[in-house]
Parts: sequence; C-alpha cells; structure tokens
Amino acid sequence: METTLRGVGVSHGVAIGEVRHMGTAVLEPPAKSIPAEEAEREQGRARQAVDAVAADLMARGNLAGGEAQAVLEAQAMMAQDPELMADVDRRIVVGSTAERAVYDAFAAYRELLAGAGEYLAGRVADLDDVRNRIVARLLGVPMPGVPDSDQPYVLVARDLAPADTALLDPSLVLGFVTEEGGPTSHSAILARALGVPAVVALPGAGELAEGTVIAVDGSTGDIFVNPGEAKKAELRAAAAERKAALAASTGPGATADGHKVPLLANVGGPADVPAAVEAGAEGVGLFRTEFLFLDDSKNAPSEHKQVEAYRQVLEAFPEGRVVVRVLDAGADKPLDFLTPADEPNPALGVRGLRTLLDHPEVLRTQLTALAKAAEGLPVYLEVMAPMVADRTDARAFADACREAGLRAKFGAMVEIPSAALRARSILQEVEFLSLGTNDLAQYTFAADRQVGAVSRLQDPWQPALLDLVALSAEAAKAEGKSCGVCGEAASDPLLACVLTGLGVTSLSMGSASIPYVRAALAKYTLAQCERAAAAARAADSAEEARGAAQAVLSGE
Ligand code: PEP
Ligand code: MG
Repeated sequence: METTLRGVGVSHGVAIGEVRHMGTAVLEPPAKSIPAEEAEREQGRARQAVDAVAADLMARGNLAGGEAQAVLEAQAMMAQDPELMADVDRRIVVGSTAERAVYDAFAAYRELLAGAGEYLAGRVADLDDVRNRIVARLLGVPMPGVPDSDQPYVLVARDLAPADTALLDPSLVLGFVTEEGGPTSHSAILARALGVPAVVALPGAGELAEGTVIAVDGSTGDIFVNPGEAKKAELRAAAAERKAALAASTGPGATADGHKVPLLANVGGPADVPAAVEAGAEGVGLFRTEFLFLDDSKNAPSEHKQVEAYRQVLEAFPEGRVVVRVLDAGADKPLDFLTPADEPNPALGVRGLRTLLDHPEVLRTQLTALAKAAEGLPVYLEVMAPMVADRTDARAFADACREAGLRAKFGAMVEIPSAALRARSILQEVEFLSLGTNDLAQYTFAADRQVGAVSRLQDPWQPALLDLVALSAEAAKAEGKSCGVCGEAASDPLLACVLTGLGVTSLSMGSASIPYVRAALAKYTLAQCERAAAAARAADSAEEARGAAQAVLSGE
C-alpha cells in the first residue's frame, strides 16, 4: 500500500529505489548459556558465518583491487585464523552461543594485538570490523557500516558521520533518508555534494523495512513508501521539468540588473572538483580540509600528501578564487588524535581554531603545505579559520599564516554569535569574513545541528540568524572588505536572494545547488532582493520570513 511520510527536504531531486540501512554498531550479544547437546550445532553456525564473511571480504577485495585488496584479504585471513577459531569452539563447548563465543574470542585476541607494538595495534580496527561482520551475520542484522550492495539503493540511516560517508560509493547511492540531522547536518551536506536527493529528520526512518521501494522527494521532504506507477511517473516528470529549466541558466552569478554575486563551490577535496567545474562554479568558497584527515585515526596527513591534494584543487581554478578552511576538528567532526574524548559538551569545547591553537604543529604543517601548493599558480588563494570567537582568535590565526610565509588573504568564519556582534573588531585582523550559517544557527539557537528534534531552530530563515548575517555584512562593507556565506543557507535559491539583499558578497554551496541559485538570482534586481531581505527580517518566525520574502519577490 502506498503511504506518505514527511521529513525535511535538504537536497533537491527525486530518487526511487530500495531501502538499504546503514548498519549500526554491533550490540554485545547476551551472555546466555546453551545446553551441551547444542554445542555442535552452534560450532557449525560459527564456522559457517566465519567462512561466509571471509568469502565476502575476498570477493570485495577482488573487485576493489590494489591496496584495498591487500587489506580485505588480510581481514579474511584474520577471520579464519585457526587459533581464534579454536578459541571460539572452546567457548561454545563450555556453554556460549556462537555469537557470544565469537565476541569474546575476538575481545581476547584484540587485547593481545593492542599490546603488541604499534603496527599490530593499528590492526585492531580491522579486527573489530571482522568481528562485527561475523556477529551481525549470526544475529541476522545488517552488516555494520555502509551497506554491501552492488545494486543502487536509497541509504537509510540514523545519521551519517563524515567518517561513514567517506566510504560510500557515489555511483550506488540514489539518495539519503535519515532519522536525525537537520538541514545543516553532514548527511545533508554530503547529499548536496553528491547531488543526490535527501530527506532528513524523518521520524521512524529506522522502521522502513530493508528492500522496500521508496520515492524520496528532496525538494518537499516527502517520502512515498511503495509508490504506485502513477506516482513514480508524476515525480519523475516534475524532476525532469525542474532540471530542464535549470539547464538554461549559465554564466557568473548576478542579479537581473547585473549586481555580481560570485557563485562558489563547497568541496571536500579534489574528488569534488569536476562537479564544481561542470556546475560553472566561479571558484571554491569553502574547501573543507577535514576529509583529508579521516584516513588515519592517529596522525595528520604528511605535508607532502596535503600539498598534492591542495594543488589539485587550486589548479582546477586558474585565475579563480579558492578559499581553504584550515582543519575544523571536534564536535560533529571528531578526530581521535586531536579531539578530547571527555568533554561534556563537545560543540562548546575545544574544536575548530581552538584545536589548532592547542596543536600549533598541525596548523603550521597545513599552512606550509598550502603555501607550497599555491607556489607559481595564478590562483587567488584565501585561507580562513573556523570557529573564530573574537579578535584575539583572529589575530592568532593571522599571525600563524604570516609565520608560515603564506601569500594569501586571511579570513575568519563567522560561526559564533560573538563574531557577528563584533565583526568590525575581527576585521581589524583579517581581510574577509565567511558566514558559516550552519554553526551560526546552532550557536544562536542553542540547537545541536545533529539532533533532528530541534531542526525547526536550525532553519536558516530564522529572523535572528538573518539579523546576524546583516550585522556581519554591514561591518564588512564599512571596512571595505568582503563577506560571503558558505553555510547551507546559500544553497536555498530564495534565501540566496535574501542574503544578497542583506549585503553578502558571494555565495558558496554544494555544486549541485549552483544552477538553482543562479537561476533564482537572475530573476530579481538587487533592489527587489533588498526589499525581500527587509521583509524577512521584519518577520517573527522562519516560516513567516520565507513567506514574506516570497511575497515580495513574486510581487504579491
Ligand atoms: C558552517 O558551519 O556553516 C560551515 C560552513 O561549516 P561546517 O558545516 O563544515 O561546520
Ligand atoms: Mg561550521
């Protein structure tokens, strides 16, 4: 039967496909005791699960080839290690279930590895993954992590962390649905980067049965469960119509009367560059460098590796602008070797620039790598710091840039209300501002961006957020400097017009949104955008603000 659910649409387009759940961490199997006559059967179950997991790892290794193959084959061998299997058998004989025996035998082996020197300790994560796979198989629950599927699917998850999403194969993911997360969560950001439709904050997403066909409308937030042929055809036709209208829009971003608003791309690394170029991005407005740091949980990437990655992005935009954000670790983007594990409120703790000031060697390596990457290129490099709270922060960052010999513009992200309130003071130290509206909303409304239940307060149309945007843009204008937006607010076509009316000087977004924003801006004059902005700021809620701006722009 066709049913409809409603979440928050965060990435345009329609996806129709089967549900595949992101496997969650494997729970500890209960320590119940089995009668002796069941031991043989349990040993058979354990052996079967181990063999199936090993075969699956080998098959995936064959498909992947290269370095990944070596890692997967080593994992398959771990699974079938004779001593481990003997331990599993022993534990079953004394009364464990197969899943509990596997769990405990791996735990014992894990301890041995963890204490056996750095190299073997580094294999603990691989061992845990093998254990989780075997236990999941025995319990009949989805494999942990990204689904193993060679057919395209709609990914359903509680929420997605950057570390999970780095492993996704974009050619297989038709769209995302998450139970948690708001419009600025990483699931939403990643969906826009991949250009796939997404709906977040959908209560009950976890209960959608594996394999059910759903249609995801990322524009409206509607999810149609078991859609009929008529509904599928209707959704596909509407999506095709929107796409055709967009294809007609090209060229640099500007209002109808020629006020230029450069449209820039948000990227996570060189892999996102082709889509940015194809969408006609005029440069990069936010290079989230965190993704380079996810491969190794213990160390920062070497200077050499960083130079390579930065250079690839810089080379893609000759004569263009590329704004690189230095590492933003902590809170929703934790890194084991930098982020304190015991903070009661990680979003209010040591994250972003605070982390870098505590680890000056990481910042120095990053800035030196950027200086080397930009050498000899005609690109306009700009470097900015996340989570700048005040002028002291801004000065510390600018000093570090100068010490690294970086020939670039230095900027500060406005993500904390204090930075918007004292933007002129911060601009005494840096040359530009970039509004991170995702975090700015989180900190203005005390609403965690990862919690679906407070997504109402994460809405970037909130008039209080618009006030802070206006304050920052006015300060930059008074100082003769620029103030862009690189948070997700910039990717909403109507809001992009309002932000322009508030005085922001560039808009940076996931590449897939650029054509939508370009088309919207081209329809209105700067004066119309300013009137829409004033109407939105005069409203008392996000919904009213959106309605008021819409009414002004459609001439109602
Ligand atoms: C923001 O907070 O708006 C932003 C652009 O940074 P991130 O989403 O990576 O925290
Ligand atoms: Mg941020």
